[in-house]
Amino acid sequence: MLRTTRLFSALVLTALVTAACGKEGSPPTKGPAAGELPVYEVAKDFRLPQSGTWRKAESRGRFVVGAKEDQPYLGEKDPASGRYSGFDIEIAKMVSASLGLDPGRITFRTIASANRETALQNGQIDFYVGTYTINDNRKKLVGFGGPYYMAGQGLLVRHDEDDIKGPSDLAGKKVCSAAGSTPYQRIRKDYPKATLVAYDTYSVCVDNLLTYQVDAVTTDDAILIGYAAKVPDELKLVGKPFSEEPYGIGVPRGDDALRFAVDDALAARERDGDWKKAYEATLGLSGVPAPEPPAIDRYPAS
Ligand code: GLU
Repeated sequence: MLRTTRLFSALVLTALVTAACGKEGSPPTKGPAAGELPVYEVAKDFRLPQSGTWRKAESRGRFVVGAKEDQPYLGEKDPASGRYSGFDIEIAKMVSASLGLDPGRITFRTIASANRETALQNGQIDFYVGTYTINDNRKKLVGFGGPYYMAGQGLLVRHDEDDIKGPSDLAGKKVCSAAGSTPYQRIRKDYPKATLVAYDTYSVCVDNLLTYQVDAVTTDDAILIGYAAKVPDELKLVGKPFSEEPYGIGVPRGDDALRFAVDDALAARERDGDWKKAYEATLGLSGVPAPEPPAIDRYPAS
């Protein structure tokens, strides 16, 4: 039964997306064309021997980077080519280039919100770029370069929804978010009258919204904008952002040499215009002009 429902919802989303394709404001299904993306100059003779993570990557000749694969404009994997695209993917590429490794050779691995800390702790990935909010709890488990972008929690509902205008209207409503995410935790703590439903990914939440199994999806506005743009006749964002979600690059905790090098890389790419170009070729396609990137938080060594 569950399988049938899942299959059905996947078909619904696919059908709706296909119908919406080509409409103004709908994201390209396969991400931006390669020609529109910046080419990041690879730093020559860059060395970071103090970083165990960098030494490992250097000897294998590539970084292994954790990312998302189902978040339009941010981190999306084209099922046909296996290629990843989006703003977070560009951030990973520019950082890799600044650390001396050809961004064309990055191996991306999809890691869900709930599994990021473990993936960094057990060395499955070298670093993580995927709408990853920096906060003190997570800093006990991993390190963070950045932030490189500031998002805020929002709500996505069906187009004909009139009752939900903000988080205080969620009492008695079914709200879906990703397990292990900050938006999930915030609803549980601050809006306990909402009925929370958790899945591994937001795209499954969106399927559930489209098939009337939940009343709202909550996560960062940057993520929700992408889903709404895929089916603008079916979904809408409501209310104002009700949190601050500074996006960081997750690195293994204790590898401060890598963390500081990531901070330097971001600062340099913000200065030379690559950050803005990357934004405009990806997340900027959602119609939101490039903001000023948030100040980098170079916190002391752990
Ligand atoms: N930025 C939030 C978080 O890190 C929500 C998005 C996500 O789950 O990746 O938990």
